[in-house]
Amino acid sequence: MKQEITEFAEDTIIGFTRAPPDSDFESAIVIGAPSLEMLEGLTRQIKMYLTTKGHFAEEVSSIEEGIDIKRLATSASLGAIGKSTLVITPEFGPRARFSVILTDAVIDVDEPREFDFCKDCNACIEACPAGAITDSGYDRAACEHTRGNICVLCIAACPVGKGK
Ligand code: SF4
Ligand code: SF4
Repeated sequence: MKQEITEFAEDTIIGFTRAPPDSDFESAIVIGAPSLEMLEGLTRQIKMYLTTKGHFAEEVSSIEEGIDIKRLATSASLGAIGKSTLVITPEFGPRARFSVILTDAVIDVDEPREFDFCKDCNACIEACPAGAITDSGYDRAACEHTRGNICVLCIAACPVGKGK
């Protein structure tokens, strides 16, 4: 089943991890894509596949209580949290959008992968006009103040996955 789901990926990324212990599900399938359109299409496709195999499959979003999509994406070995506090993936840098499907199907989890993207890079910190990214973390209030003007300069500045 894992092999078949992975084959749906094409220009997207798919990782597998355990579902949160307080959920009624066994596995979490984390999907990352560079556009919302691709993400929604692939999420639908995988949900339909699981359903036709007789499994429950539920898409969850980060606004739902108890679901931490960033944590699931990193535990599915899709990437690591960068200095910008975004999930950085080798394929798309911080430019991937994620969805999560929880299912009762028991699927092997992905082996952990080590990532070391940031090292001496400070491009996101230097690009941020609000000083919202510092060594001590991310200041949401400062960021949201500037994001009213649709600022994604930290994402644009990240060299990982650029041009892919
Ligand atoms: S979105 Fe803009 S203001 Fe917010 S952290 Fe990124 S660069 Fe800074
Ligand atoms: S811009 Fe540099 S420091 Fe910031 S998340 Fe990307 S790699 Fe890490």
